[in-house]
Amino acid sequence: MTRLVAGDPFVAAHCGWLVDVVTGTVTPNVTLVFDGDRVADVLAGDAVTPEGPILDLTGCVVTPGLIDLHTHLAGIEESGSYGDLLVESQADDALVGVHNARRTIEAGFTTVRDVGCFRAFTDVSMRKAIDNGWIVGPRMHCAGAYVTCTGGGGEVTGFTPDVGVPDAMRLGVADSVDEVRRAVRRIMAGGADFIKVIATGAVLAPGTNPGAPEFTEDEIRGAVDEAANYGTVVAAHAHGAEGIKLAPRAGVRSIEHGSFADDEALALMADRDTYLVADVWAGDWMEEEGRKKEWPEATMRKVIDTTETQRDAFRRALGLGVRIGFGTDSGIYPHGMNVHQLAKHVELGMTPIAAIRSATLWASECLDNDEVGILEPGRYADLVAIEVDAGIDARSTDAAEVLSDLTQFASQMRHVVKGAALVR
Ligand SMILES: [Zn+2]
Repeated sequence: MTRLVAGDPFVAAHCGWLVDVVTGTVTPNVTLVFDGDRVADVLAGDAVTPEGPILDLTGCVVTPGLIDLHTHLAGIEESGSYGDLLVESQADDALVGVHNARRTIEAGFTTVRDVGCFRAFTDVSMRKAIDNGWIVGPRMHCAGAYVTCTGGGGEVTGFTPDVGVPDAMRLGVADSVDEVRRAVRRIMAGGADFIKVIATGAVLAPGTNPGAPEFTEDEIRGAVDEAANYGTVVAAHAHGAEGIKLAPRAGVRSIEHGSFADDEALALMADRDTYLVADVWAGDWMEEEGRKKEWPEATMRKVIDTTETQRDAFRRALGLGVRIGFGTDSGIYPHGMNVHQLAKHVELGMTPIAAIRSATLWASECLDNDEVGILEPGRYADLVAIEVDAGIDARSTDAAEVLSDLTQFASQMRHVVKGAALVR
């Protein structure tokens, strides 16, 4: 397949400073040697000059390409009204998705776990277009559609009962263990990479209660067991404490949001190695934008009710040793602002290296993807480079200080490389 948009791959990159997310160290003057789209070697100094174009990042701090575990790349951004979803066609959703995908990778996110789109499989088409080089975007892990109960948090709700919602928006609706298993089979057959289950109500779905469970433990386990038959896992949207507790017991890989998690729920997650993927930055944006755009009062109340409680749960999760994955819910806010959440993770108590790991190493583990997340031989040559002039005191000998600056200034990144080629 011809590469229509990405540049020619480089054979090496000279890095001013390289962040090793495994050891937590920052090493000055490192050369990354590439073989095709992969890392072949990581060498000290810049003496090694393989034949071919070399990328000069000597003025930059370099980290692995970032990973966002909770994006919605297809479709228009959140408008506060689900009515808007019905005036956009699937082609509209995909084409605006092209724009969203570019903004996401330009912001440094070279891999995403895309956790659902309202019209089934729009995300799968986007993944295909990116993998074929037709459009520029991150490597995508796709949910395909939402597994949700009738009228649940993954439904397009809020209309009078005689208004029909298109079938393509209801492909994952299921109301029993058998129906859940059937929905999982339909979604996997459509090309999904994993399953997204809506275990409680949602903030933005009118008429649903984020605090209330929407599936039984058996129904969630049905999704987990069926997903396992396809060699994959389940991500569970869950705000309320009871819904959160059902999901780790049923064996899900991650809890999305986790807003009302009590200590019992968090201890259960720590015990079962369930990741918490909490969009702790998006609340500020929703509150500000929702007011400006006059979102419905009931929605605004749910936004306010979940924002600070979620941050409190996040802090307690750190104390209880819950695994943290970086996920921002982009699409709720405009795509391309994902990196703002790095500083939020630090503000809420993570060390800078832990925040960076949540968006690299740990996120790749949550994805079972050993081809991204670390710059080491064999993995994809995906990286981001931030100019030290942006404010990073890279000459500091204190790695913690460099990493702290990095989380603050990451929005000023200059170069994004995917598969050894510059994104431009
Ligand atoms: Zn979401």
